[in-house]
Amino acid sequence: MKTKILLVGIDGLLLEKALDSGRAPTLVALKESGHFTELTMSAPTLSGPGWSTLLTGSTHAEHAVMDNWFSGHHLLIRPDLLSRAFYQDQSTTTFAAAGWPPLVDPTGVGPVIHERREQARAGQHRVISRDGETYGYQKVDSEIATAAVFAVEKYGPDVSFVYFCDADEAGHSHGVLGNEYLDAIARVDEHLTRLHQAIELRARNLDEAWLFVLTTDHGHRDEGGHGGDSPQELASFVIGVGIGRENPEWPRDFAPEELLSLLLDARA
Ligand SMILES: [Zn+2]
Repeated sequence: MKTKILLVGIDGLLLEKALDSGRAPTLVALKESGHFTELTMSAPTLSGPGWSTLLTGSTHAEHAVMDNWFSGHHLLIRPDLLSRAFYQDQSTTTFAAAGWPPLVDPTGVGPVIHERREQARAGQHRVISRDGETYGYQKVDSEIATAAVFAVEKYGPDVSFVYFCDADEAGHSHGVLGNEYLDAIARVDEHLTRLHQAIELRARNLDEAWLFVLTTDHGHRDEGGHGGDSPQELASFVIGVGIGRENPEWPRDFAPEELLSLLLDARA
């Protein structure tokens, strides 16, 4: 049976800060047990370009998303991870859940994850879209987590993307040196715990193989904010944990746009 993949995008996460905080026990455990790679993103270190690169396996120049407005983007010819997996094998089931509309909402800018209406109608592609920009990510992320845990338990999608933005929002509002950023990291860590437990249970009970993969699109300056090319803004990572299978044998070092093909290859 092919490995199932759940990629979690944690927007604006400074991993070192999370690991050192004592507030993110699941992140610490996953980093210690999984494959770890430090990634260096490209400027501008904004969410639109960053997630477009990670999810479509393209450089900023190739997808042409240079900001969060997406004007003139090439995403229609740069299919995302979920779509690529489906094009490789049309029995693939996919799931996306995100509170930042440009990732998943076809009525706004983007979206980075293609709508794929036929597969959606067939129940092969499920999308949960929420609006954290309007309702706040603390609330919306927990709805996303609940929906994602439900999807893992009930459907066990073959390839999933689940996105949390609470930490990024806290970074923008309060900077990353205070407790607000760490409080948000602690809440995201609880979401990761629930997702990890759901996958472990499913892998054990149904004898499935999963890869639980975590990444971020950029860091933050100390005072909050990103977009530039300082090391702290460019910093990202990939943690890949095999559940019901070995950890992935990925290089120690790779570029952000190479993650997609590593994930697709890991399915085989
Ligand atoms: Zn971001």
